[in-house]
Order: sequence, then structure tokens, then C-alpha cells
Amino acid sequence: MHCWILLGFLSLTLAYGVIIALAVTVPGTGQVCQGAGAVLITLWTLLVFFVGGQSKAEAFKRAGLQLGNATLGQRFVLGVESLSIFRSMPEAIISSRRIVMALMTRDDYVASLSRMKKRVFIMGQEVENLVDHPLVRPSLNACAMTYELAGQPAYADLMLATSSLTGRQVNRFTHLHQDTADLVAKVKMLRLLGQMTGCCFQRCVGMDAFNAVDSVTCEMDRALGSGYHARFRQYLEYVQEHDLVVDGAMTDPKGDRRLKPSQQADPDLFVHIADRRPAGIVVRGAKLHQTGALNSHEIMIMPTQTLAAEDQDYAVACAIPADAPGILMIYGRQASDTRKLEDGGLDVGNREFGGHEAAIILDDVFVPWERVFMAGETAFSGLLVERFAGYHRQSYGGCKAGVGDVVIGAAQSLARYQGTDQASHVKDKIVEMVHLNETLYACGIACSAEGKPTASGTYLIDPLLANVCKLNVTRLPYEIARLAQDIAGGLLVTLPSEKDFANPEIGPYLDKYLRGAAQYTTEERCRMLRLVENLTLGPGAAAYLTESMHGAGSPQAQRIMLARLADLEGKMRLARRLAGIKERPGQ
Ligand SMILES: Cc1cc2nc3c(=O)[nH]c(=O)nc-3n(C[C@H](O)[C@H](O)[C@H](O)COP(=O)(O)OP(=O)(O)OC[C@H]3O[C@@H](n4cnc5c(N)ncnc54)[C@H](O)[C@@H]3O)c2cc1C
Ligand code: SF4
Repeated sequence: MHCWILLGFLSLTLAYGVIIALAVTVPGTGQVCQGAGAVLITLWTLLVFFVGGQSKAEAFKRAGLQLGNATLGQRFVLGVESLSIFRSMPEAIISSRRIVMALMTRDDYVASLSRMKKRVFIMGQEVENLVDHPLVRPSLNACAMTYELAGQPAYADLMLATSSLTGRQVNRFTHLHQDTADLVAKVKMLRLLGQMTGCCFQRCVGMDAFNAVDSVTCEMDRALGSGYHARFRQYLEYVQEHDLVVDGAMTDPKGDRRLKPSQQADPDLFVHIADRRPAGIVVRGAKLHQTGALNSHEIMIMPTQTLAAEDQDYAVACAIPADAPGILMIYGRQASDTRKLEDGGLDVGNREFGGHEAAIILDDVFVPWERVFMAGETAFSGLLVERFAGYHRQSYGGCKAGVGDVVIGAAQSLARYQGTDQASHVKDKIVEMVHLNETLYACGIACSAEGKPTASGTYLIDPLLANVCKLNVTRLPYEIARLAQDIAGGLLVTLPSEKDFANPEIGPYLDKYLRGAAQYTTEERCRMLRLVENLTLGPGAAAYLTESMHGAGSPQAQRIMLARLADLEGKMRLARRLAGIKERPGQ
């Protein structure tokens, strides 16, 4: 009997070896080999099920899927290791995961998304192949940049971190900040990515959610004796090991803003627990404006506001695979988005990258308890909102400054192409743009450098400075955009289409009359105009401007925090002391 099983393992291993050799040596066979590899892993899993039962088979499958991240040499070691210790094969393979890096490449990431079965609607149509959809692909490219740069040694310091949970190297986007250096590195990483993509690269909301949920579950357990923190960390380890993108889902539709969740005409206008079962909960509702939802592996649900005791079922935090049954995603339109469907690429402005948001419908989605991190603890809902918003307000000091660098670069280039770069008022405007942009970055760095540890050991930004950062973000990018439009001139909004340039009759006229300084081509000028248009009026403006206003909370939310954190009493004491006014009760 054992002989047959051994023979089974040997032949499957041999077949796997052939597939890997094929994939490595014969170009273009990647997809087929990936499919064949998946079939073999399934057969292997069935064999282990036969030998060792269900739990071993599940563990084996997980380990088998991890092989996707291994190099050829690592796969070979795993194969030999597993064969030489046949009797305890599943455990041997699982323990040998230590040699597999917890990092995906860009291609692994794209392949991992293709394997998912999300239900997504774009312009009224359900879409099967998301990764190649022209409206989605630019946003996927931007998110994939978080994997691509992580694989480049030049960016390792910023993009990688040592996991506080496993001691292994992980992508910083899945990391819990362990000190102020981590917080500062995060802001620098986001600026770098903003510079590289010129758009929202989407992965920060999940990172900010992890750090917020981590400290809040720890404090909640200490106060209430609940058991969420260990559960959450186990989940995060899974995210780190698989290098996943997680959508941070906080914003509910909210209906009539004057009313609490349970007072709304429709109780589903805030996400809530619709049923509690022995194995888990059922959640119902919707999350709007979800950044990068289509490019995410997981969704981290959090409450949207501070809740009162009567709204217990609305105090829910949990993690759900993005393709779980009951989840629908509806793609949100952006200005001029259909230019991405046109041939060419000049008119879209940012040819390769973009962002997206989607509405997520949760139509009675089951969540097992091991993925639930808050279920009714209303007293901690406000703290979770505040922590998540604090981290995301810090994030903007990085990403918006990075995109701002691109806007400034585009404005300076246009000035040069049009012969105005030496004019004193243009120089002044560029300097003003730099000043505003660096103010955003300075706030991001300041709230990071002033961070403090929370009870869980995870570092939190300085909340006052993070709110100052975000309040500046609600204004300064608009001013930077205004100055860029000033320098660009009216052609920014009257430029004919790329197709007109290609027309043999009118193209030469356009080339002749739309030229700026003679040493630059008309095409160079037009490309730069389209980039400024994209960032200040087109799809890029969704993230650079409107998200700067409302993302992580509208300006009033930051003002409320500033009023709360400003310590006006302390400031009055300072003034009284210098003015020679004696302290007395009730002052
Ligand atoms: C591009 C973009 C990306 C985003 N990405 C994400 C994401 O990834 N995840 C996520 O969870 N969310 C995301 N958001 C949502 C963002 O956090 C919300 O837009 C923000 O919290 C504001 O909520 P709202 O859009 O419902 O506007 P509202 O809350 O309706 O605010 C509109 C105006 O009404 C005022 N207002 C609101 N309530 C009251 C009240 N009770 N009394 C008086 N005035 C009130 C506000 O101050 C504001 O001026 C994103 C938003 C944008 C624009
Ligand atoms: S807006 Fe900025 S911080 Fe938020 S997800 Fe996009 S890139 Fe990250």
C-alpha cells in the first residue's frame, strides 16, 4: 500500500519538476504551466488527504500554494526534503516554508488576481476578465508598483520591513509600525510611489487599517476581556505571508446624516451584523468609494463613525476575501475615463497608471469568527475610526506630495516648452508650488517623527499633527493645481484630439500652430498638457483633488479633532504666566 502512495508522490513530483523546467526555459508557457501546477497541487493534496486526513491536506495545499513564491532552487529543496521524509511529508513541507520568501512579484500579484472570482460591474456590465480590462488595468499597474519596487534592491529599505509577527521580510504595506523610523519610512515610501505613478496606488488603506485594528483590538481585549487581538494578529500573519492587498473599508452610505444608524429609514445604510451564528456572523450593507477594491485580495470592514449603545450591531470589524459569496463591486466613474478605451494613449495623459474606487455591496456575507475583530463593542468604534483616520491623514503627507512632485515637474516642463520658464512670475509660481508641496510632506514627516507606541507595541502617529497634515491636504493641492493650470495656458482645455494630429490633412496644421519654443516638438508640449489635464481635471484629479478634500474624512472632521487636541487650556496658562496673571480656580 505504502509503495503505491510513494509511487504516486514520486510521479507527481517528477511531473511538477518537468512543468517548472518548462516554465523556466520555454517562453510563453507560464500560463499553461501555472494551470498544470495547480492541478498537480490538487492531486498532491488529495493524496495527502488519503494518507493524513483533512487537516493535513489543507495545510499541505496552503504550503503547495506557497511554492508559487519560491525560486527554482527553493522548489527543488522542497521537493527533495518532502521525498526524503515521506512518512511525515506534510509537516516537513510546511516547516520548510521558512525558506520561501513572503513576497510576491508583480507577475505573481497579477496572476493571483486573475485566479479570484470577484463579481464586478463596470458601466452596467458584469466583467469576467478584470486584470485586462482597459478601465481597470492602469489602476492595477499602479497597485502592482508596490510589488515591483519591493523587488528592487535600490528601494528595499523603504519597501520592505522585518515582520514583528514572524521575523521574516515582508512588504511594508503589510507591516505593523514598530518605531518612529517605520512611520517615517512609510511616508517616504508613499511619496516615492506617488512620484512613480502620478496617481493613487491604493494599497495604503489596508496598511492603515491593520495598524489601527491592531492597537484597538489590544486595548479592547484589556478593557473587556474579549479575544480579538490574537485573532487579528493571526489574520495579519496570513496577509503578510501571502503578501496581499487589503481594501480598508470604512465609509458607509450613511443616508440622512442627521440620523444614527438604527434611526435611518433603511437599516442597511450602515453596514451591520444581520445574523449571529455559532460559526460566525452575517454582515449586510454597503461600503462606498472603496479605493482599489477591484485590485484587492481582501476587504477589511470597519465601522464608519462613533456609535452609541443602541447601535450595537453596527459596531463591526472583520476581514472578508474580496470574492466571498454575497459581495458585489460596482466600479465608480472618473472624469474622461473612457479616453482609456481609445486607441493611442496621448489623450489620456497618464498612459500607464491610474486609480479607481468602487461601491461594495455586502448582500448577507458570512464571516467566520476567526475573521471577526469587533462585534458589538460600540465603546471602541470611535477609537477605531480615529486611529484609522489618523494613519490615513498621515499617508496623504506622502502620496499627495509625490503626485505634487509630478504636477510641479509638468508645470515647469510646460513653462520651458512654451518659453516662459525664465519669467520672474513663473519662477515665483513654481517656488510657491514647491513650498506648498513640501509643507504637506513636512506635516507627514512631523506626525511620524512624533509618533508614540500604543499598548500593542504598534506605533501611532501624533494625532494633532496628522490632522494638521490632512487639513492642509484639503487645500494645498488645489492651489498647486491652480498654479499649474495658470502656467499651462488655455490649450489645457482646448487641445484637439490625438486623432486630429494623425489626420493627414489637419495634422500638419496642428503641428505647425501648436508648437511652443522651437527646440521642443509639438507632441512633447501636447503630452505634458494632457498630463496636467489628467491630474487637475481628469481621472487623476479624483485622487489628487477630491480625495484630498474628502478622503480620510471631510475637512470638518479634522477641525473637530484640532479643537479637541489643541489643549487651549494649556495655551491660556502659558499666556497668563507671561502676562503676570495669577492662577486661580475656574479661570
Ligand atoms: C477618491 C476617494 C477615495 C476614497 N477611498 C476610500 C476608501 O478606500 N475607504 C473608505 O472607507 N472610504 C474612502 N473614501 C471615503 C471618504 O472617507 C469619505 O468620502 C469621507 O469620509 C466623507 O464622507 P462622504 O463622502 O459620505 O461625505 P459626507 O460625509 O456626506 O460629507 C459631505 C459634507 O457634509 C458634511 N457633513 C457630513 N455629515 C454631517 C453632519 N452630520 N452634520 C453636518 N454636516 C455634515 C461634511 O462636513 C461635508 O462637508 C474615499 C473618498 C474619495 C472621494
Ligand atoms: S490616496 Fe494616497 S494614501 Fe490613500 S490609498 Fe491612494 S495613494 Fe494611498
